Amino acid sequence: MIPFLDLKAQYRSIKDEIDQAVLNTLASSQYVLGSEVSTFEEEFAEYCGAAYGIAVNSGTSALHLALLAAEVGPGDEVITVSNTFVATVAAIDYCGAAPVFVDVEPDTLNMNPHLVEEAITERTRAILPVHLHGHPADLDPILEIARRHDLRVIEDACQAHGAEYKDRRVGGIGDLGCFSFYPGKNLGACGEGGMVVTQNEDFARKIRMLRDWGQEKKYHHKLKGYNYRMDGIQGAILRVKLRHLDGWTTARREVARRYNEQLVGLNLTLPIEKPWAKAVYHVYAVRILARDALHNYLNEQGVQTGIHYPIPVHLQTAYASLDFPENSFPISESSSRYLLSLPLYPELSQSKVSDICNYIHNFHQEADEE
Ligand SMILES: *Cc1c(COP(=O)(O)O)cnc(C)c1O
Repeated sequence: MIPFLDLKAQYRSIKDEIDQAVLNTLASSQYVLGSEVSTFEEEFAEYCGAAYGIAVNSGTSALHLALLAAEVGPGDEVITVSNTFVATVAAIDYCGAAPVFVDVEPDTLNMNPHLVEEAITERTRAILPVHLHGHPADLDPILEIARRHDLRVIEDACQAHGAEYKDRRVGGIGDLGCFSFYPGKNLGACGEGGMVVTQNEDFARKIRMLRDWGQEKKYHHKLKGYNYRMDGIQGAILRVKLRHLDGWTTARREVARRYNEQLVGLNLTLPIEKPWAKAVYHVYAVRILARDALHNYLNEQGVQTGIHYPIPVHLQTAYASLDFPENSFPISESSSRYLLSLPLYPELSQSKVSDICNYIHNFHQEADEE
């Protein structure tokens, strides 16, 4: 069996370091926030080229607080995309604001900057592009539009730790950048975690208060806040893992390169990397008309694949009240029908990549013979 993801392999490769970090935290009893978390905030912000990092308990909380810092509130609108994990849109909803979707570019499947300006209304407060699958969205035109209309840009970088846009790491490029450290992400905790990074001191201060009950001083609640603090153990583990992130990214990119090499010439569309981008391949998704058939075929061969995502958010039952008819965002919708994510993790061996590619070749051969 070839799993879609293998978290055990990663743990085995750094077990001693992780175990020690956990034991040290237990001994220190800094269970919530504490020195490991604040050091991790500094290290990860620096990694992103940002001045400030505020650790929270999930990527969803990071998005929620970033939106609140950008003063998104009831009646406001936030421009985003529909082919994303539901959390992007849920966070907008938590603020009482409405998501306004624009369709994506056909090649990167990221926010199409050409569609942003016509989606702006008097109520628009922010633009929330997603760096889907670890490929950066085209930020410069989005930032330019935001500047002209006095809007904040919040990057959903939950899948894009270390990805580069024009030689700068994502997250620190917009006004606010949000990361998830969910276990399966490129930088994953042993539990939940997230972070907001920013260059803006006022945003940082506000988010720091909001994640901890709106207080700067204990029991003096200046803002209506939340319990969104990061655990001490997760901070300690993430510090260890951050030191391995670049190595893992290199390994992910190597797996992607091998897939690209061995899957050319087949009747499927491979993911691309823009000339200005360094993608970190959180997901390696191919597009194929016979998606469900390939999914089943690989499953029969013992290869687990994923579908990211089978239903775009605007067509999810939970968001039916947004009332978008089908075909509102044709590219987002067609990607939900034709995308198939192949196994990709840093420890995935060359020979397993070759096995997967051989199965896909066989699938095409059998289809040709029919
Ligand atoms: C994972 C993810 C989130 C949410 O992160 P959690 O840590 O699971 O709350 C948000 N947006 C995107 C694009 C994600 O992939």
